[in-house]
Amino acid sequence: MIEIPQFDFPDDKLKEECGVFAIYGHPEAANLTYLGLYALQHRGQESAGIATSDGKSFECYKNMGHVADIFQPEVLGKLPGHMAIGHTRYSTAGDTVLLNAQPFAVQCNKGRLAVAHNGNITNASELREELEHEGAIFQASSDTEVVLHLVAHSRERTLPGALREALLQLEGAFSLVFLANDRLIVARDPHGFRPLAMGQMEMPGGRMCYVFASETCAFDLINAVYLNDVEPGEMVIVGPEGMTRERYAPAQDPAHCVFEHVYFSRPDSMVFGRSVQQSREQLGRLLSLEHPVDADLVVPVPDSGVAAALGYASESGIPFRQALIRNHYVGRTFIEPSQAIRDFGVKLKLNPIRHLLEGKRVILVDDSLVRGTTSRKIVRMVRNAGAREVHLRISCPPTVSPCFYGVDTPTKGELIAANNTVNEIRRFVEADSLGYLSLGGLRQAVADHNADYCYACYTGNYPTELVNIEELLTRKLK
Ligand code: AMP
Repeated sequence: MIEIPQFDFPDDKLKEECGVFAIYGHPEAANLTYLGLYALQHRGQESAGIATSDGKSFECYKNMGHVADIFQPEVLGKLPGHMAIGHTRYSTAGDTVLLNAQPFAVQCNKGRLAVAHNGNITNASELREELEHEGAIFQASSDTEVVLHLVAHSRERTLPGALREALLQLEGAFSLVFLANDRLIVARDPHGFRPLAMGQMEMPGGRMCYVFASETCAFDLINAVYLNDVEPGEMVIVGPEGMTRERYAPAQDPAHCVFEHVYFSRPDSMVFGRSVQQSREQLGRLLSLEHPVDADLVVPVPDSGVAAALGYASESGIPFRQALIRNHYVGRTFIEPSQAIRDFGVKLKLNPIRHLLEGKRVILVDDSLVRGTTSRKIVRMVRNAGAREVHLRISCPPTVSPCFYGVDTPTKGELIAANNTVNEIRRFVEADSLGYLSLGGLRQAVADHNADYCYACYTGNYPTELVNIEELLTRKLK
């Protein structure tokens, strides 16, 4: 009998994190949350969930898989109410099981409560140990469940009071959306690591419906207007009496994740108040100025390198050609029919257009290089399709340190740039030349005039104190 091995697509070993969405004041809250999550699907494809409330009944449904597959009309029909929160997830902490899918919904001494989280709480294991010591029972391994236990343990009588107390104990990155029986509460960590945008829709009669999302592309789909961002250290409460904004913690030095602009977010989103497409094109322009090369074509690695390649081409005057075509329908795992077929993975997702590449000197542009294994396959693919020279250009600096704030990066040992010089990496990926954008170039491209961004993955300087840094650097977060 032929053994059919399970094949993990290499690109997908490094995955996005999570997307959150929340809405208050719309009779079709569940349907709009579904649409919002649909727009945020790129932020996590492992599981998704929606919790709704109509002030009396409280419902939550979550499952493994893609948003459109999980939320069929009959499922959405069982989620009534004018307020909702939603989540789409790839695990950056916790195992990949339905138990870890969000929102987490509980009945506690503060009433019904559901939570969804984007980010990573860096002191979660310490908090969890303390809570378990006091008798708390955890259902999942995700760091988010800790927040609910802290709320339940609080001696504060009101939910906002208990939330304030809970949030002040958290360290790290969190953009959180909470649903209670009669109100919605959202909060962002004091450094503002992960994005959280706020928007509104005018309802018949002039009433306002408020929406919150990881990215503004979710607002565009439902015709909501982007107002501004939930501020670092801010908590926003929306309930029957209207909307209030308050600081639950003094804002600390901002540390917005620059990788949102480099890779994560959709180019049609405004993230941290800035257009992602604008940043990416600028990354490409500056990359061209820093690492020019005489060549015939600028070719993006789709889709992550497209905007930067456009910027590179327009600055250098070298023609832009989409000479690699991406199959958008590749699932996470694929059954490889025979082990004898090598490098099948990259070919599943990308195919070169030979007649564009044959005999050409090619500048291949991608957003980042992490392990180097995918890049090597793509360089080989372009060369095998007839390219005479392949010059790899990366629109961010070398990734030298793992992220502990919600981006899934491998351990330091697996990061090629942590252990090799640029020339060694060039040799590994088999490119004729390799150029990374400088840190200064990256700062300039995102218009970071006030040092508002986190660059820890490129510098190893973490903006928060990490109690167990040595341990964290050598093992992946559990
Ligand atoms: P590699 O050459 O194996 O380091 O893979 C580089 C590719 O991985 C690039 O195309 C990036 O767009 C992609 N990539 C980088 N970081 C991530 C991440 N956190 N999640 C998913 N893909 C990523």
